[in-house]
Amino acid sequence: MAEPEVEPEEDSGVEPEIEPADSAAAEREGIEAGCPVGMGYGDAHRCGRELHVAPDGADEKPVCLMHSEDPNKESGLLFDAFWREFERILEDAGESKAHFEHFVFPRLDFREREFQAICSFRSAKFKQNADFRNATFKQDVTFRNATFDQDADFLRATFTQGVRFVETTFHGTANWARSRFLDRAEFRRTKFIPRIVGRPSAAFSLASFSKPDEIIFEDVDLSRALFHNSDVSQVWFTSSVLWRNRDGNRGLAVFEETIPHDSGYAKGLEKNGQPNYRAVAQIYQQLKKNYDSRQDYWTANEFHFGEMEMKRLAEPTEGPFLQARQWLHRNLSLVALYRYASDYGNSYTKPIVWLLGILILFASLLPLPGVGLMRQGAKQTETYTSVWDVQKSYGEDLWAEVCLVGNGAITSVDAATFQKGAEYAPAYPLGRVLAIFETLLTSSLFALFLLAIRRQFRR
Ligand SMILES: [Zn+2]
Repeated sequence: MAEPEVEPEEDSGVEPEIEPADSAAAEREGIEAGCPVGMGYGDAHRCGRELHVAPDGADEKPVCLMHSEDPNKESGLLFDAFWREFERILEDAGESKAHFEHFVFPRLDFREREFQAICSFRSAKFKQNADFRNATFKQDVTFRNATFDQDADFLRATFTQGVRFVETTFHGTANWARSRFLDRAEFRRTKFIPRIVGRPSAAFSLASFSKPDEIIFEDVDLSRALFHNSDVSQVWFTSSVLWRNRDGNRGLAVFEETIPHDSGYAKGLEKNGQPNYRAVAQIYQQLKKNYDSRQDYWTANEFHFGEMEMKRLAEPTEGPFLQARQWLHRNLSLVALYRYASDYGNSYTKPIVWLLGILILFASLLPLPGVGLMRQGAKQTETYTSVWDVQKSYGEDLWAEVCLVGNGAITSVDAATFQKGAEYAPAYPLGRVLAIFETLLTSSLFALFLLAIRRQFRR
């Protein structure tokens, strides 16, 4: 599958900003022509509304009420006048395009609102919380370059056609929980920079995507985004998307793992007061599937670690001997051992290091019960104590011990490689038990090594 092509927006050209009005003449002309803010291309699309008298310092250049940063717009007559004009534009537009470019919005309540027009909020500024809960956009809507100074709430909003959050900046939490995206949605270079530490930057929990491969995240920091209970297995995450790094450089993590569970956004992440690791595992599994299907196995493996880690942490929550069983699950279950041995198949050096360690360990363990060897037709068993001869010098004895460990090493390698030693054999019965145990361990580790190699280098 190819990267989704960048679809140029019809009005994405160079934006005419507020025009220079540094000379008195230009200013006079400006007053005659009204508000100088460009609403589309060039002068033809200048705002032209009557200039608003704002307090000193509110606006750089005189502009109309809609484009003014005048804080008095938050209430009273100016607030009413702003919304009257807004409604007029929307009504006049009907089902064609409604232009709100560069508008500076005061407190906003669009709950349950149905927008019939194609809405352009390009470069708009939302100074207060923007409430779009249950709103429906019947046609295309763009928030390109817009800035949300506070929270933006699109809870249960419906985007019937395309929606663009291209280069949109969110300084609060952007909430798309339970939103329905029926068509294309673009989150390109969207800046999620919430001011409050620990709060999510964007929430997509329970959001539904009707055309998942037209939901595009490009060059976006998703380290504080929430996706639980929504299906992200086919959404487009380009390679420039940023995820959170797991502690200890062990792959990638989603924010669901770290968000405090008393947060209003963490619904579904807790079960009977316990973290719901299964829900988080599901996100990892979907992300893994997503990156796998785009043949980005590197990133898929990074999510694989998270998925397995959630399985390890999802410990039993009821039944007898609960604490002991929980401890066992976390530390000695198969999934826990899988982690120790190979980072859930992500590391092929780990099993090799373990393998070497096991060989060395058993080389030194086997002489304890004894290593048997054939000498001049007779079987002789040597142990650490048996080779120590008080008649001999200290140096000679030490050398004898070293030779014994050497014999142990050969026996150990024999056991690891399923060889029945022709010359050396572990002493019966304890030595044999040790050797069998070693064979089991080393063959499992070798299998894990092969599995990890396959995971890392699959096509
Ligand atoms: Zn204007």
